[in-house]
Amino acid sequence: MVISGAGPAGARAASLCARQGLRALLLEREAVPREKCCAGGLLDRASGLLGEPLPDRVIEQEITSVGLIHRDFRTDFELPTRAAVTVRRSVFDAYLVERAERSGAEMWTSSSISKVRESTEGLEIVIGGRSIRSRALIVAEGAISRTASALFGPYPGRNQGIGIAMTCTLPRDPGGRMEYYLMGTPIERFPFRFKFPLNGWMFATKGGANIGVTGKDLGGAVYRDALDALQKEVERKYGEASETRISAHPIPMVPRRKLATRRCVLIGDAAGFASPLSGEGMTNAFRSAAHAAEAVSGLIHDDRPLSSYRRMVATDILPVLRASRTISPQAQWLMGIVDTSMLMRKMSGDAELVSICLDISKGERSWEALLGVIARRFPYLFFSSLT
Ligand SMILES: Cc1cc2nc3c(=O)[nH]c(=O)nc-3n(C[C@H](O)[C@H](O)[C@H](O)COP(=O)(O)OP(=O)(O)OC[C@H]3O[C@@H](n4cnc5c(N)ncnc54)[C@H](O)[C@@H]3O)c2cc1C
Repeated sequence: MVISGAGPAGARAASLCARQGLRALLLEREAVPREKCCAGGLLDRASGLLGEPLPDRVIEQEITSVGLIHRDFRTDFELPTRAAVTVRRSVFDAYLVERAERSGAEMWTSSSISKVRESTEGLEIVIGGRSIRSRALIVAEGAISRTASALFGPYPGRNQGIGIAMTCTLPRDPGGRMEYYLMGTPIERFPFRFKFPLNGWMFATKGGANIGVTGKDLGGAVYRDALDALQKEVERKYGEASETRISAHPIPMVPRRKLATRRCVLIGDAAGFASPLSGEGMTNAFRSAAHAAEAVSGLIHDDRPLSSYRRMVATDILPVLRASRTISPQAQWLMGIVDTSMLMRKMSGDAELVSICLDISKGERSWEALLGVIARRFPYLFFSSLT
């Protein structure tokens, strides 16, 4: 069987398939290690899905302090335990590939699929002029996946956000800190369509930071100005940034409608599984990799149809993504009519809300728990934050 794309989703799927006794061939278009535009925030709930603790060499910083900033409002949480780490994607992704190879997967770098022909007997996959036969294909090529487009049609551009990330070194080390900046303009009229407001981050790395902005349907100048403003803010605190490197990449915010054919499945960003509230994508990359490995193993070992993948994803991944998209317009509208700083102050002073958020980042509780508490607190939070 073949896995195309050696990011977090593909490398993890290759490990799991090889461990289930499948002959797994992992393809990567680039040479490895390769950089991927990302903030590099790896929540403990994501790394907890990897089955062994992360080695120190992969960790840039352990995150024990989180800041939330909106205009003049800022609040800081010192966390009782680690909630996340930061990683450099070149190092982290290479580590996942290494694990896949250790599990028995074969790796071909600088290789990509040019054609897939599917029939009832199997797949014929053409890779660089060479044709191979395979019984299944897992497509893990990320947000810009040629194979996913060829098999399932193009991903609709209107469902994508964009992220711009800048890595830099800083004279003063920000330590184990993550900062989130709410930068979007409040919306006073109820937006019926899903919105992803402009927001920014500063995630500490070794001796520097990853800073950046994400948003959707905004002009290039908006992102540039936001990134400039964020860089100035970070430099005010930690000194002048040097060795800066900027990259941008789309973030798919809506799952594709079709996720599997008889022998091919989509996972990770290629399936559109990033969070529409935060852009975080590695948790679902690992979850979908595990479901795909199980489904493909069922197909190859027991001739069970790949529709089992769709069922696993429908229970474990899609409900939260759907709920997030439904809540998004309401949250946007709410931010537009209340005093957002006041609302954030109230929410950040609520010990139960804060502790649930921490549990979610560690994978110990689900979003439903948070929604339940917010629903109960809503009248108080709303009326006490009106301007
Ligand atoms: C600016 C930004 C910040 C982000 N920050 C975070 C964060 O802090 N935390 C988080 O969890 N998520 C974050 N995300 C999302 C996260 O990067 C993705 O969800 C995650 O990388 C998805 O993993 P993947 O394996 O599905 O795809 P990718 O990581 O994109 O990997 C796909 C791989 O497939 C390869 N490939 C592509 N086409 C082909 C082909 N035709 N043949 C062979 N190989 C191919 C690519 O080279 C790549 O190696 C961020 C995204 C952006 C853009």
